[in-house]
Amino acid sequence: MTPGSLFFALKGDTFDGNAFALQALSDGCAYAIVDDPALPDDPRLLRVDSVLEALQGLARLHRETLRTLIVGITGTNGKTTTKELVAAVLARRFRTLCTEGNFNNHIGVPLTLLRLTKAHELAVVEMGANHPGEIRDLCAIARPDCGLITNVGRAHLEGFGSFEGVVRTKGELYDFIRTTGGRIFIDEDNEHLTAIAGGTDSVGYGCAMRPATFIAGQTVDGPPPFLAFAWQERGDDRQHTVTTRLVGGYNLKNALAAVAVGRTFGVPADDISRAIADYTPTNNRSQWMETSRNRLLIDAYNANPSSMRAAIDNFAAWTVAPKAVILGDMYELGEESPSLHAEVVRRLESCGFDRVILCGPRFAAVGGPFTCYPTVDSLSAALAESPLSGYHILIKGSHGMHLERLIAAL
Ligand code: ATP
Ligand code: MG
Repeated sequence: MTPGSLFFALKGDTFDGNAFALQALSDGCAYAIVDDPALPDDPRLLRVDSVLEALQGLARLHRETLRTLIVGITGTNGKTTTKELVAAVLARRFRTLCTEGNFNNHIGVPLTLLRLTKAHELAVVEMGANHPGEIRDLCAIARPDCGLITNVGRAHLEGFGSFEGVVRTKGELYDFIRTTGGRIFIDEDNEHLTAIAGGTDSVGYGCAMRPATFIAGQTVDGPPPFLAFAWQERGDDRQHTVTTRLVGGYNLKNALAAVAVGRTFGVPADDISRAIADYTPTNNRSQWMETSRNRLLIDAYNANPSSMRAAIDNFAAWTVAPKAVILGDMYELGEESPSLHAEVVRRLESCGFDRVILCGPRFAAVGGPFTCYPTVDSLSAALAESPLSGYHILIKGSHGMHLERLIAAL
């Protein structure tokens, strides 16, 4: 406990913060915000109807008192990567705050906002959702001045109901910006996004210079396995080439989004290119690792059908050999889960990888030509017995699979 701080007695699945409020006070907190009427009288206990709503309300109030311009980022894939890139670019010229790690939900967004001070000129706030209405609610708290949707794909279908539900929910960010007359950033190559844009100031980016495109870019040859790309601004013939430390062609769009935001705020082109070149991803998001035996592309941070497809296609296009893929189950796909796992298996069949290993009960239920282990432990044990050696290996699965635990065996 930081002396003098506020303790918010939030409830989770396992713990009720109210049970720790008195301890928080004795450990140095100035006040505890609580919602359990059974707690004893103490002037340092501030009673509210809902601690969560109090946290959100305080964050909203705090945000309203500041002039900081906020860029809100949502989308199915690449939010954190794009958020980090955008913040790195903006930080070259402005005092910038951004979401820490993946704190992107109804608690994380308020906590991010409460870290803002008068000193911050800009903030980049990641907004996540797995149910309709959640982006609308986060916008009501953060009141973003600019909005960026990275992409839309089939994820969290249990909560969203359908792909249309995903598009509508992500679109709540554009809807909010439209009501305030702010600015949106839009991937001009994405027809689902161009269909819901409009009605407000917009800045386009993409792989081709279309009439509404401000920043266009393409991948260029670079040192494998890293993404290199060239970008160009409308009305300027200069090409800027950037060699990144990101792996995966799908990161091109994340980077172009960062260029578009940076140029819109007037960050000089060279500063933008350098900021993107310097960014190194962490936390198993398309991380590159060389072990004594193999070269690993670890993408064990999350997986859904669209990011799975992007990762497989990207890896299939690599001209390295031999190649192995180890894929784990994708979670939260509801009724469509069996067919979406089957689709991945079919895709793998057409890719011609040297080895394919699957892991998890959902892939096991599909059947097919590839070996499938029910758990990470059983796969680890198999790898200990007959190790893979000399391979380039893509590792990807939902967070809950914890495929990163295979690294030791690889
Ligand atoms: P979360 O929903 O967990 O917050 P996120 O949207 O923040 O995820 P990142 O953490 O940036 O996404 O990236 C996670 C993974 O998504 C990456 O490792 C990569 O496999 C994939 N990914 C990133 N960007 C894209 C993209 N533009 N298109 C498709 N897949 C992507
Ligand atoms: Mg994220």
